[in-house]
Amino acid sequence: HGAVKPPPSPSPLRNSKFFQSNMRILVTGGAGFIGSHLVDRLMQNEKNEVIVADNYFTGSKDNLKKWIGHPRFELIRHDVTEPLLVEVDQIYHLACPASPIFYKYNPVKTIKTNVIGTLNMLGLAKRVGARILLTSTSEVYGDPLVHPQEESYWGNVNPIGVRSCYDEGKRVAETLMFDYHRQHGIEIRIARIFNTYGPRMNIDDGRVVSNFIAQAIRGEPLTVQAPGTQTRSFCYVSDMVDGLIRLMEGENTGPINIGNPGEFTMLELAETVKELINPAVEISMVENTPDDPRQRKPNITKANELLGWEPKVKLRDGLPLMEEDFRTRLAVPAKK
Ligand code: NAD
Ligand code: UDP
Ligand code: UDP
Repeated sequence: HGAVKPPPSPSPLRNSKFFQSNMRILVTGGAGFIGSHLVDRLMQNEKNEVIVADNYFTGSKDNLKKWIGHPRFELIRHDVTEPLLVEVDQIYHLACPASPIFYKYNPVKTIKTNVIGTLNMLGLAKRVGARILLTSTSEVYGDPLVHPQEESYWGNVNPIGVRSCYDEGKRVAETLMFDYHRQHGIEIRIARIFNTYGPRMNIDDGRVVSNFIAQAIRGEPLTVQAPGTQTRSFCYVSDMVDGLIRLMEGENTGPINIGNPGEFTMLELAETVKELINPAVEISMVENTPDDPRQRKPNITKANELLGWEPKVKLRDGLPLMEEDFRTRLAVPAKK
């Protein structure tokens, strides 16, 4: 009687880092373009431990070389279509090829990455109670009949086209996120990312900004795909990363558009790259690919009001910030 309960035996887990104030963050696709910039930003906070899981399909260890060996950083070669067992507090789920050349290369694999990969990350989030953010895409709006695109628009997407593995794949990924949220109470965040550019973009991934910058540096004609009047809105990668972190840390599930509303035709983009990087190059008109959306511009009212976010870097300021990185990787020094 009156015996004092013995103190609970110290659990080995209690002493593990998991129960300290550090935040453990998993970034899938962290060896890629946006992912590696996100990792750079997360690593600046000394309370963060970052685990990257990537299969290096379109990403590379090179993008993370400054962190390899860092005590708060871990890099795992892992394909998200396989189950993953780690203990984390937050998951930024980016793993998925983003450029048409790569996502069309093995479309079945692209769907598996979007569907099974997202399912696995949601299963992981459920098991460990982590908050999970999906990087969805403006492609869920397809060839939009509403302009600019706001989040309430359901889109105009071809379910059987060559882009469907990507845009329908992301649509299912969004559905899975909401079903895990409603059915299992998982904390979710969905970002709908619009075209993003910056250093570390894959040089030969066929995307318009990387193509034009590489062509301008090599002195080759800038290939504008017909008709050239189609529009896109380009967001600099530091603004994108800022938006993703605000979304993760905020209270809103989304989906929330993150992109720069400055809208340009591909001809205007070519003129701007020519002027800023190499006035001597020509601009040539070439054939386009099927299902190319004619216009795209985000309505970012939600990001603005709910996250206090807006992009800061204008296209004319961002493009020159890619030049040095591209020159180094292309081994073309600037003319003195
Ligand atoms: P990226 O291709 O540079 O990065 C994707 C990363 O995911 C790469 O490191 C790749 O190796 C990895 N990956 C691909 N499949 C994988 C798999 N099955 N398992 C593990 N890792 C895998 O592309 P990014 O531009 O950095 O895009 C990142 C995310 O943002 C993607 O989800 C993409 O859909 C989305 N997004 C990007 C843009 C953009 O303009 N860059 C626009 C809309 C959406
Ligand atoms: N999963 C995972 N890591 C975990 C927990 C689950 O990769 O830590 C995977 C699991 O293999 C499954 C998926 O996530 O394929 C969905 O898991 P969930 O528990 O929601 O569904 P179930 O396993 O009951 O089908
Ligand atoms: N585009 C172009 N020249 C190129 C590559 C692309 O004019 O060398 C055009 C393409 O037709 C599309 C736009 O640029 O209208 C954006 O293409 P990208 O593949 O970069 O992105 P997405 O189509 O996914 O928005």
